[in-house]
Order: sequence, then structure tokens, then C-alpha cells
Amino acid sequence: MTATATETSGVGTDLLLGGERVASSDGERIPVQDPATGEVVATVANATVADGLRAVDAAAGAGADWAGRAPRQRGEILRRAFELMTERTEDFAQLIVRENGKALADARGEATYAAEFFRWYAEEAVRNTGSLTTAPGGANRILVVHQPIGVSVLVTPWNFPAAMATRKLGPALAAGCTTILKPASDTPLTALAIGELLEEAGVPPGVVNVLPSSRSSVVVKAMLDDPRVRKLSFTGSTEVGRVLLAQAGDSVVDCSMELGGNAPFVVFADADLDAAIEGAMVAKMRNGGEACTAANRFYVEAPVAAEFNARLAEAMAGLRVGPGSDPGSDVGPLINQPARDKVAALVAGASDAGATVLTGGTAPERPGYFYLPTVLGDVPPEAPILREEIFGPVAPMVTFEGTEEAVAMANDTEFGLVAYVYTRDLGRGLAVSEALESGMVGLNRGLVSDPAAPFGGVKQSGVGREGGHEGLLEFTESKYIAVSW
Ligand code: NAD
Repeated sequence: MTATATETSGVGTDLLLGGERVASSDGERIPVQDPATGEVVATVANATVADGLRAVDAAAGAGADWAGRAPRQRGEILRRAFELMTERTEDFAQLIVRENGKALADARGEATYAAEFFRWYAEEAVRNTGSLTTAPGGANRILVVHQPIGVSVLVTPWNFPAAMATRKLGPALAAGCTTILKPASDTPLTALAIGELLEEAGVPPGVVNVLPSSRSSVVVKAMLDDPRVRKLSFTGSTEVGRVLLAQAGDSVVDCSMELGGNAPFVVFADADLDAAIEGAMVAKMRNGGEACTAANRFYVEAPVAAEFNARLAEAMAGLRVGPGSDPGSDVGPLINQPARDKVAALVAGASDAGATVLTGGTAPERPGYFYLPTVLGDVPPEAPILREEIFGPVAPMVTFEGTEEAVAMANDTEFGLVAYVYTRDLGRGLAVSEALESGMVGLNRGLVSDPAAPFGGVKQSGVGREGGHEGLLEFTESKYIAVSW
């Protein structure tokens, strides 16, 4: 037991390396804050470059055994992980609230969603099918098998500390890869708890290593430079993603990148407005707005714009803001002070550009990093809030006229993760869905995330997909064997 374990109700706070809990090689630790109060609730070991390379040793050493196990055996371990995580949904939810701050209902939703990745990939572990065809010339057969790609470095953000980890660990383990998980320094406790749970489920030592580090740039670079590392799976900002893609290029490491978003939410005049408001609240306010899939820009067709904007402002004003641990809170704090400063600056920039505040627009007077749910009307096209990821509880409203203008406005961004469309005309809905430059579309739905579906972006929102069968293939290499018989 470490000195700080009691502060976190028995959750491990040391590195999980080769099946052991160890301090970092220089003894440093990272403080973990409760965003609702700013208080330090725990400290965790802060991995060094030497620790990173030891983790690569452990993962490489465990690789052949794990890849050689029967797919059914790997699947059953993942199934056990699903069952354990489901039994402990409430513990995980409390842990997520403690270090991330989100509302308890959101945290429960995340814990359930996170466990589902273990269930889905328990099922996918035995469905890693290849193919056998006859070469067009008829001379031979073309046999294709999907082999585990090898040691995989998994880097995750703070906004979904459990689900972003299991969305990578599930497919990596199912495919037969060994892993090093580097969680965000704001939220390392959930990742460490997931590592322990996987060990309990039967994952052998070295297959899952968990290394919190505030020195991620040097630690991740050192791992990517090690020729034994063959995969980087990253979820985080486009800014950091660009840096990592360049670094991975030096040793030609395969990359899956889940990056930032700037989701448009388009409401046509014929939409079911009750459903559109409900969907807008989910798309905007799940996780307090701190989601890559968060609706970032609302485009509403002129005939219904005034009514829709007023109803959205009313719904947003009705949300209760408070600590995530209080079951009465709908919206918790933002993750930290810089995150709140960024949201406040974007709102100020929009107001200066001529937007009107329909509700919210300020930070409440209380400790922690809270910001009031906000709706901004008549936001001009040049306002930075329409270009940047807000990552907070703010909805900027823009009015459009006609399908062409809606699509042009929605596509006017370098991002392309998800878009939302509301219309009763299914033909138009599908045509617009096809014209939108995004990896995912919610058509009359404010939530798209599903472990069984391929999640990911186009343009600068990412490379590759997580979830679905596609997510499994990201952790494999296709091997082609030309066969004559
Ligand atoms: P971030 O890019 O700051 O950090 C993500 C991770 O990368 C963290 O673990 C961080 O420690 C690490 N990191 C930071 N700099 C690094 C470097 N130079 N080298 C190696 N690792 C480094 O992102 P964040 O603030 O934690 O998360 C928010 C961002 O994540 C948003 O942009 C959001 O859209 C994005 N996100 C995307 C998805 C998706 O599926 N597309 C899902 C969730 C979050």
C-alpha cells in the first residue's frame, strides 16, 4: 500500500508496470485535483523516460505469449473484465467524478459505456476473420490473415478517463497486442483502476502497463523511438496529434488518431422541434460540453430560429450547476482553470463580435471551475467561437436559409468528426448526411457513440476508427500469403 492509497479509497496510485506496482524511477508524483474544489485528492507516480522504456521491455516480453493464446481465451478474459466493471459501475462513477468533476449521471453513463467496449471486443476476439481468394490470373490463391500489430502505446485524454482507455484496450487485447497506457495527468486514477481490474480478470503481467506521466512529450517520444513499439493509438487534441504524427513518422509507427471536433448541429424548419431540443441538450451538454462530439455550432433554419433558440435557452437555464458528486447536479465544473478561462474568452470574443447572451455568459461565484450553461444568439460568422472547439457548456446560434447554405456553413471548418441533422424529410436528411464532411452523422439523434459502430473523424479530426470491427483491425497488420497448391 502506498502512502496516498488511503486518500483514494484503495485505488492504486503507483505505476502498473510488468504486473507490479512501482514508484517512478526518480520518486516524483503528480497531484490530482478535484475540479469542484481545486483540492488535491491524491498523488500518483510520475513516470520517467526510464519507466517508459521498462514498460516497453515488459510489453515486448509478454507479447509472444499473449499473441499466441487462443482467441477464445483472450475473449473470455475481456468478458470477465466487462462483468467486473459492470459490478463496479458505481465505484468507477465515483472515481471519475472525483478526478474529472463531471455530473454523477454522466459518470455512471461513462462507466457503463466503458465496460461495453470490453463486452464488444470479447465478442470480436473470435471474429478476426481473414480471406482466401483465387488470384485473377488463376495461378495461385491469395490468403490474407490479420496478425496482431505488436506493442501498442495508448495515449488518452481526461474528458472520458474510463471510456477512452477501454475503447483502446479492448481491441488491442482482443487482437493479441500488449499495451502501455498513458492517461492524461488530470485523470490517472481511473486508468490505474482499469489496469488493476484487467489483471484481476486474468490479463497476464506485462500485457497492460499503466504509466501516468506529466512528462508525456519525452516519455511518449522515447517509446515511439523504440523499434519494438509498432502502434500509437492517440485520443486528444488535434494540436498534440499533429506533433505525435510527426514523431511517429521517424520510426514509421502505425497511428490511429482520434482528435478534436467542431460539430455542427443543423435544424431544418420541418424538424420535430421537441426531438431537436432534446437531441441538442444531449449533443451539447453530455459531459458538461467537454466531449469531442459536443455540438459546437448550431445552425437553425430561419422560420424556426427564434422559437428554437428561445426554447434551447430555457432548457439550458433550467440545468442545475454544482459538484458532480451531488446527485442533484446536472452540470459539474470544467476540468481546470485554463479550461474555464478558454471558455470565458470565447464567450467574450463572440459578444465583442456582436452576439447576444440569451442565458448564462458568466462563471458562478463559488470555488472550483464552474461555468454557467450559456446560449449566444446571432453569432457572426467571423467569431472565433465558431472555429474553435469550445469544450464547455456554451451553445452559439446561427440562422441559415436553405439546404445549400446549411451544408456550406457546416463544412466550413478544418475539423470533421461528427455532425447532427434534424429534419422530418428522410430523403433530405440522408442527402445532407452524405454531403457533410464528417466521419459520423447523428440524423435525428443527439448521440452517436456506440461500441459496435466505427467512431472517428475525417479532415483534421483524425485517422482511423475505434469501435466496431474496424477498431479491431486498427490493432492488426494484414499479411498476404501467395499460395500455390
Ligand atoms: P491533449 O491533446 O492535451 O492530451 C491528450 C493526451 O496526450 C494526454 O494524455 C496528454 O498528457 C498527452 N500529451 C500531451 N502532449 C503530449 C506530447 N507532446 N506528447 C505525447 N503526449 C502528449 O488533449 P486533452 O486536453 O487531454 O483532451 C481534450 C481533447 O481531446 C479535445 O480536443 C477533444 O476533442 C479530444 N478528444 C477526441 C476524442 C475523439 O474520439 N476524437 C475523444 C475525446 C477527446
